[in-house]
Amino acid sequence: MNIPFLDLKAVLVPHRAEIEAAISDVLDSGQTILGPQVSAFEDEFARYCGVRHAIGVASGLDALILMLRGLGLAPGDEVIVPANTYIATVLAVTAAGCTPVLADPDPHTMALDPLRVERLVTARTRAVIAVHLYGRVCDMSELRAVCARHGLRLLEDAAQAHGAVEGDRHAGALGDAAAFSFYPTKNLGALGDGGAVTTDDDAVAARIRMLRNYGSVEKNVHVVKGVNSRLDELQAAVLRVRLRHLDDENDRRRRIAARYATMLADTGLDLPDWNGKDHVFHLYVVRSGARDALAAGLAVAGIGTAIHYPVPPHRQPAYREMQSTHLPVAELLAGEVLSLPANPSLSEDQQERVAEVLRALN
Ligand SMILES: *Cc1c(COP(=O)(O)O)cnc(C)c1O
Repeated sequence: MNIPFLDLKAVLVPHRAEIEAAISDVLDSGQTILGPQVSAFEDEFARYCGVRHAIGVASGLDALILMLRGLGLAPGDEVIVPANTYIATVLAVTAAGCTPVLADPDPHTMALDPLRVERLVTARTRAVIAVHLYGRVCDMSELRAVCARHGLRLLEDAAQAHGAVEGDRHAGALGDAAAFSFYPTKNLGALGDGGAVTTDDDAVAARIRMLRNYGSVEKNVHVVKGVNSRLDELQAAVLRVRLRHLDDENDRRRRIAARYATMLADTGLDLPDWNGKDHVFHLYVVRSGARDALAAGLAVAGIGTAIHYPVPPHRQPAYREMQSTHLPVAELLAGEVLSLPANPSLSEDQQERVAEVLRALN
């Protein structure tokens, strides 16, 4: 049996009729960009996250950039980000003209370590971006305390964590502002690119609304030097459908994770740690010192895996200036992490097969 790492077509099958109806509604409306579907989605997503505002933009990267610009961060400002994040988090800081400061993650949780973050704070630090990597919310209460002590903004990169909760609050409502991606493979995915910023701050929301649309609130009046980063009606209509199923799909992802935890308990693999609904398993990531051999063995058996991420941002050619930075935990993780098939369409039989091959390889 061939098991792809991710079968997006299979993930979308249960929603096909609803998505087709939503697309028809858009065709009937004759509206294409920043229309009623976008407004309705922004309201529904803000309500879902438990914040006053959601602003739809063109991608997750743009959401991060416009979040930083909307908060008034400027050249010279330092922003602390985890060293083991997807490159987009770091690129956004650079694109906003700020300086990324990479924090080595906690080796156990693989998330920002509040103690290390505090050690990196300087007189120029303005913000910390907590990345809820793989779908698990960071230790926000400790990060909140560090940010409060030093007068920093606490921001979220929630691109992998739609629907994850801390206590009774959702990702997107855990800091001063949050950025989401709706890239098709995310837990809440469109049929193309999309993103959103969430915040409770009316002024920040108003500024991001201007920035995304040529710096304009009123036609032909450009208040700030904005960009074109708008969400379109088709994507918003699809996202409204998928938002209605997000909690169910996240429950499926958690059930898959719980089954893996049982099936792989004796393999010696380092399995993800989680607690209730703090994890929405955008990715199910195991760790092993023999990662490459495991991935190769699974591939021979027809099972797809992926690595998130094999090369940390400071080792990328684009960040040549950081090549000499030594971030031992991020570098170790890059050699050990392996993402197993775990999307909501994965059947129990498929999962049993993945586990069987993994057990045989160990
Ligand atoms: C996907 C992702 C992004 C970027 O989202 P795009 O929509 O692809 O621009 C940013 N941060 C993280 C952690 C992501 O996983």
